[in-house]
Amino acid sequence: MPHAVTLIPGDGTGPEITEATRRVLEATGVKFVWDVRRAGAEMLEKYGTVLPDDVIESIKRTKVGLKGPITTPVGRGQRSANVTLRKKLDLYANLRPAKTYPGLRSRYENIDLIIVRENTEDLYAGIEFQRGTREHEEILEAISRCSGHQLDPESALSVKYISVAATRRIVRFAFEYARANGRRKVTAVHKANIMRLSDGLFLATAHEVAKEFSDIQFEDRIVDNMCMQLVQKPELYDVLVLPNLYGDIISDLSAGLIGGLGVAPGANIGSQCAVFEPVHGSAPKYAGQNKVNPMAMMFSGVMMLRHLGEREAAHRLERALTQIIAEGKYVTYDLKPRPDDPTAVGTSQVADAVIERLHR
Ligand code: NAD
Repeated sequence: MPHAVTLIPGDGTGPEITEATRRVLEATGVKFVWDVRRAGAEMLEKYGTVLPDDVIESIKRTKVGLKGPITTPVGRGQRSANVTLRKKLDLYANLRPAKTYPGLRSRYENIDLIIVRENTEDLYAGIEFQRGTREHEEILEAISRCSGHQLDPESALSVKYISVAATRRIVRFAFEYARANGRRKVTAVHKANIMRLSDGLFLATAHEVAKEFSDIQFEDRIVDNMCMQLVQKPELYDVLVLPNLYGDIISDLSAGLIGGLGVAPGANIGSQCAVFEPVHGSAPKYAGQNKVNPMAMMFSGVMMLRHLGEREAAHRLERALTQIIAEGKYVTYDLKPRPDDPTAVGTSQVADAVIERLHR
């Protein structure tokens, strides 16, 4: 039976890396029926939204999505299509592995981290108040009444929202992942010394859930210390579980540790559906140039194959990718010793090399 998958090329460099990834996935021999759905900048001009409803409907039907990055204009009214998609489908767990492979130009060896980022709340919940609006005025009044703080009307507010239910399910997800994948330790990351109530709740709930998993070690780290620890001794860490914002930042930091965003994959997982996408964004300055690295999306494809139960194909594709990285010949500029290396190949040539390797 072919697998029905919603394919979202996204915008910027998204369509190029999506096409390269689709080609290598088909070359594994696994059969797919792609339901291609458009989202991103082009849809905003046509339909006034970056995320038309048919994208959500399609993923609800197929249960699996493979997605290219989508641009979010900074500081304008438009909400991020990526955040909206995760919220609408309740894709509460963002799973971002960061692993060093031979041939990647990293300062480290033997990094094998799993970042589990809460995907639905925290400062990303989208609860914001614009200065000069009636709602902003009302909130400022309520804050004054409830806390005694007189806030400057020339301000804006973003609410940090952390719930017991969402924390419980993300921490449980991290422990269950650790157990199912032979991992030994889960580290909860927070700033509960300063945000004693919101991050305090995250930490207390994580401790409570940890008691259900006595076979897995548990510890916690304050987020600033975690950044330093990851730079100094990343090999000490295994599975990290974090609220949304820290998870976003730490996963880019971890991508940097292993050799860059060009090889960092991700999955957004809910109880009904899962959407696989690279950690990186749309890199719009390179759009249409056949330049950026498609491997982060291809590794996301490996995660998708595993999710679909296609373990053997996943293994073959991962092996082909790691061999090409180790060889260092058919790789894009970001994996070469210098970014202006004239021997760097383009996005589609990486796909050609992976396909050739799969057919050997
Ligand atoms: P970005 O990840 O798009 O790019 C940052 C830099 O990283 C690029 O300039 C490039 O030098 C490098 N890079 C990224 N991907 C690469 C690849 N595949 N190969 C080689 N080099 C690569 O980050 P940004 O510039 O902050 O964001 C651009 C847009 O993407 C923004 O609108 C942002 O909101 C959006 N974004 C989307 C997603 C998503 O769709 N899930 C995630 C992050 C950012």
